[in-house]
Amino acid sequence: MSNRVVEGRMVTSETLAEMIEGERPMEATEIEDADRECPECGGNVISVGYMPSVTAFVTGYKCQDCDWSEKEDQ
Ligand SMILES: [Zn+2]
Repeated sequence: MSNRVVEGRMVTSETLAEMIEGERPMEATEIEDADRECPECGGNVISVGYMPSVTAFVTGYKCQDCDWSEKEDQ
């Protein structure tokens, strides 16, 4: 199971990417532990790689406890 609980709700890699990006990605990879802490609340941060368009790949980071998120274009 790659589903995780984020802000009290169960998410898949696609819905997690949608929370970070604001829209549903074309593709998303498995959710992974980012091995870092949220700068806002110290909560656990998870990451997901996704493609917002055919030519872009982004790694998104999201806190599981609050609404903090960050993304890195690659
Ligand atoms: Zn947080």
